[in-house]
Amino acid sequence: MSSHDLVDVVVVGAGAAGLAAAVALGRSLRSVIVIDAGQPRNRYAHAAHNVLGQEGIAPAELLEKGRAEARSYGVTIAPGRVAKVERTGSTFAITLDDASLLHSRRIILAHGAVDDLPEVEGLSDFWGTKVLHCAYCHGFEARDSEIVVVGTSPMAAHQALMFSQLSKTVSLVGTIDIDEQTSERLDSAGVKVLGTNAVRVSAEGDGLSVELSEGDHLSCDNIVVASRPLVDGTLYTQLGGQMEENPMGRFIPGTQTGRTPIEGVWAAGNAQAPMAMVYGSAAQGVMAGAEINFDLILEDISVASAQN
Ligand SMILES: Cc1cc2nc3c(=O)[nH]c(=O)nc-3n(C[C@H](O)[C@H](O)[C@H](O)COP(=O)(O)OP(=O)(O)OC[C@H]3O[C@@H](n4cnc5c(N)ncnc54)[C@H](O)[C@@H]3O)c2cc1C
Repeated sequence: MSSHDLVDVVVVGAGAAGLAAAVALGRSLRSVIVIDAGQPRNRYAHAAHNVLGQEGIAPAELLEKGRAEARSYGVTIAPGRVAKVERTGSTFAITLDDASLLHSRRIILAHGAVDDLPEVEGLSDFWGTKVLHCAYCHGFEARDSEIVVVGTSPMAAHQALMFSQLSKTVSLVGTIDIDEQTSERLDSAGVKVLGTNAVRVSAEGDGLSVELSEGDHLSCDNIVVASRPLVDGTLYTQLGGQMEENPMGRFIPGTQTGRTPIEGVWAAGNAQAPMAMVYGSAAQGVMAGAEINFDLILEDISVASAQN
């Protein structure tokens, strides 16, 4: 998709964050183009949970509803991948990977994050269905099941404690550092700690088999891992921004409403808060859209006053 027209906002990414921003802007009569590469982070899961009013909805269905809502307010949504963003005076030039070009007054980076999984053979085949990371996303569905936490960082002990609330049969494997207090807590919670690493995961009946480094096998229904959400900093750094980092990984810095230190650039959803769930991401999108609308109102007023 190419356009010579200057639109108010180009949104990069049509996940919960980008679509929620687009709805807020469309309802404010703003011209908006959303470009989306079509790979939302939770696409591997059958259902999205803790999504009030849409509990258990399929992730693809939720986004389809969001796209329809945004389009009903005049938003254009097009498939594609934004490859380059640059400032051209007071506006932005946005180049897609098919070389088509867009121009906008503001930009929202809502391109999400990509999960980096522990390197255990076979693990990624079951990601989002039987290999889980989040007790609030799919913990209830794994209740009372046989769970193996494949630990690659101290975060695994936290996950084992979280899932011990949902199942009495939780094992923690992996050669990770566990301090004395955590060790006592795991013991009290009934978590079985095995100090060997998982080397391979494969299907076994309706469940999974975890092969350990010493050759033993553990049978289970579900595996829990700590994925590392990776936020691609390419577009933000092209604009002169600097990514920030916390123990959860790199992210685009910004205010609560998503305004980044780079003028005219907002970020929302996992691109700015890698741990945010669907509604948290959507809420950030709405706030970014709302703030951009007011920013544009002020700009239009000052341009009009300068002309009078
Ligand atoms: C397996 C799994 C299950 C989950 N289950 C739940 C759950 O049950 N409940 C819950 O609340 N949360 C859940 N989450 C978290 C949820 O996925 C995120 O909160 C949500 O996807 C964040 O929305 P977002 O809009 O920031 O990013 P995304 O949904 O990832 O959307 C970003 C979009 O931007 C696109 N994009 C990326 N780069 C570009 C580019 N350069 N140009 C154009 N488009 C681009 C991507 O392809 C994608 O379509 C789960 C996560 C995982 C991994």
